[in-house]
Amino acid sequence: MKKNITVLGSTGSIGVQSLDVAEKAGFGVTAITANSSVEAIEAQIRKFRPLAAALSDAAAAKDLKTRVADTGTKVLSGEEGVCECAAMDGADTVIDAIVGLAGLKPALAAVNAKKDLALANKEAIVAGGPLVLDAVKKAGVKLLPVDSEHSAIFQCLQASPPNKALKKLILTASGGPFFGKTREELKNVTAADALKHPTWAMGAKITIDSASMFNKGLELIEAHFLFGVTPAQIDIVVHRESIIHSLIEFNDHSVLAQLGVSDMRIPIQYALTYPERYPSPVKELSLTDVGTLTFYKPDYETFDCLGICREAVTRGGLFPAAVNSANEEANRLFREGKIGFLQLGELIRTAFEITPEKPDFTLADVYDTDKAARARVIDALRD
Ligand code: NDP
Ligand code: MG
Repeated sequence: MKKNITVLGSTGSIGVQSLDVAEKAGFGVTAITANSSVEAIEAQIRKFRPLAAALSDAAAAKDLKTRVADTGTKVLSGEEGVCECAAMDGADTVIDAIVGLAGLKPALAAVNAKKDLALANKEAIVAGGPLVLDAVKKAGVKLLPVDSEHSAIFQCLQASPPNKALKKLILTASGGPFFGKTREELKNVTAADALKHPTWAMGAKITIDSASMFNKGLELIEAHFLFGVTPAQIDIVVHRESIIHSLIEFNDHSVLAQLGVSDMRIPIQYALTYPERYPSPVKELSLTDVGTLTFYKPDYETFDCLGICREAVTRGGLFPAAVNSANEEANRLFREGKIGFLQLGELIRTAFEITPEKPDFTLADVYDTDKAARARVIDALRD
């Protein structure tokens, strides 16, 4: 039977690669969504002929509707339109490749409509972890990781019976463009410097998060929710070559790793074809071409965002949501040249001050916390 997918965030780095995987695998595309990239989504509509497309920006959606009036693709608008696409009949799997908290409601809409969810949008699970997991359980659908580290762990866990022998997870980190630098050296770095990632080509927000290592902090929280392990059971190791995508360790100290070239189409495809494996458009890994694999301890002092995320996930409740939203705001300010690199951690940390202690929380609590964390960051900047 032909598989059909919906791609949320289809015009982004992961979205475009997802459509490439879908095309090569012969999947149908039910719906696609973006924020405001009218031209890019128009080209995708003409190529993939989805039943529907949505832009969250209302003016852009209006423009798109006129442009594709000849195609038969229904054009929807706003966050509701994106959620309607996420829940649309026809798709077996929905890949959420939206960036930021904006991907949370569409992820829940997909799951509530009983779609398997291939999740690239780590902010959704970081901010709404228990809500996403509950919805997945209630709907009886699969939650498939797309993030390369989590796909690696997911793949390693296939080789392990569900027992108590799992000791820890080891997340690898490329270390980003500022690996080995001191805080002094990072004082004056710019967004342009931070956008030069050594091993991965990604969207702007995650590239900045990689430079500050907030991305690895998000991944620590993501791993805690996806795999049900405590934060203390998750180690981070810097591995510059991005060939080993992560590892798991058992209580007999046997360690399993997943390796591959650094191309997101491998984890994207596995999430879309699981439990099957399809031939890949990605080139084979040649260990002899790579030659050397290196490993370092992360520098928690220089990259204070790592410690902030560890503290947030250890405190639990709304703390991960709060630091995520504070980071979304700080990351934007840094990209706009309004704050320095070393201010990122400083501003994100202010989120702890506004987070209510609420071990059980609702979706409305997440959005209240989002608002409060963003406002606190802006306030802190004025102080
Ligand atoms: P991009 O910035 O390249 O793409 C983001 C996509 O989301 C675009 O389609 C964009 O539309 C859409 N979008 C942005 N804002 C909104 C909004 N408010 N409502 C609806 N849609 C919106 O990001 P990436 O592809 O790099 O990353 C996507 C997600 O995947 C992130 O959560 C990231 O952390 C995660 N991820 C990415 C990896 C990578 O290699 N890139 C690796 C692992 C995880 P538009 O074009 O109109 O702005
Ligand atoms: Mg990753």
